[in-house]
Amino acid sequence: MRVGILGGGQLGRMLALAGHPLGVTCTVLDPADDCCAAQVCGHIRGDFDGDYAALYRLVQASDVVTYEFENVPVEAARWLAERVPVYPPPRALEVSQDRVTEKRFLQSLGVPTPPFAAVGTRAEFDAALADIGLPAVLKTRRFGYDGKGQAVLRTPADAEAAWVRLSGRPLILEGFVPFDRELSLLAARDAAGNVVTYPLIENWHVEGVLHRSVAPATGVGGGLQSLASDYAQRLLAALDYVGVLAVEWFQVGPRLLANELAPRVHNSGHWTIEAAETSQFENHLRAVCGYPLGGAAATRHAAMYNFVGTLPTVAEVLREPGAHLHRYGKADRPGRKVGHVTVCSATPLDLAKLDARFARG
Ligand code: AMP
Repeated sequence: MRVGILGGGQLGRMLALAGHPLGVTCTVLDPADDCCAAQVCGHIRGDFDGDYAALYRLVQASDVVTYEFENVPVEAARWLAERVPVYPPPRALEVSQDRVTEKRFLQSLGVPTPPFAAVGTRAEFDAALADIGLPAVLKTRRFGYDGKGQAVLRTPADAEAAWVRLSGRPLILEGFVPFDRELSLLAARDAAGNVVTYPLIENWHVEGVLHRSVAPATGVGGGLQSLASDYAQRLLAALDYVGVLAVEWFQVGPRLLANELAPRVHNSGHWTIEAAETSQFENHLRAVCGYPLGGAAATRHAAMYNFVGTLPTVAEVLREPGAHLHRYGKADRPGRKVGHVTVCSATPLDLAKLDARFARG
């Protein structure tokens, strides 16, 4: 099978690498000459937006098309879908690109979210503040990622400053959730509607960027896992979804509030390469290619740390027992994800010890 991927970053790279043993060959479409996926698979250089010659070359190179990031223009995905199967369905992109559409969609399926209001004008901002109260989080509706385009409002002065910085674009005001912790759930669905669900993952962010993921998350009773799985099943069925879907959660006591959907493989699922029966990358490819899904159970404990900006040396990382290093083949740059390590063990990991080795900041 030939899989076309919109986007050529590290997620595209890891998809392509997962395809090799299955005889699935990938081609990425990406505007950057030096996109890191191009080191391991085919590359068409072009924009997603309006470069129909490049999109047409991708159609010719692909039996099926998928994406590795969610800010692909929906029109491009729909144009492709008229010519070649595109999974996940473009509707999933559309829903996840706008935080208000996304939260309305979640609520329509009975999946709880933080309180929120759409904000365009100053009057709507004032009304939303009066309704939701402080603390709150003001975010751009579109094109936000890794905590960019958002501000936490604790005081009226914060609200003024955030309005000056962010207004002029469609915004969303969300109630600030005093969460116990952040979790994510990854599930894969095939075209026949079969679903496999990975164990809940616990995530820690630094300045809005994922820093550490631990899987399976500790202290998750069967209740929380089945609640998250049930919510994910509703989303997958409603979207007639094919591929891997990631849902980010805030846990508050026994409740889960959905923060975000990602219609693609996800940074918090990198541990599945070494510590699950089937990696998220392989299961995504299996789903979009029409092959049977593989098991999603964890085979051992795993902790994943992102390397942001710079990489430690290979020897430094591999000195840690159970460590698996993934370098993305990118040049160092502040704020850029350049690699990750997953440390695996048959017994729960000593996170304090691993933090001392791999934590940043
Ligand atoms: P996001 O870009 O929406 O995933 O937000 C990035 C990070 O900001 C999240 O992972 C949380 O740590 C924090 N955050 C976002 N929204 C909220 C909220 N409504 N309440 C509390 N923390 C939030």
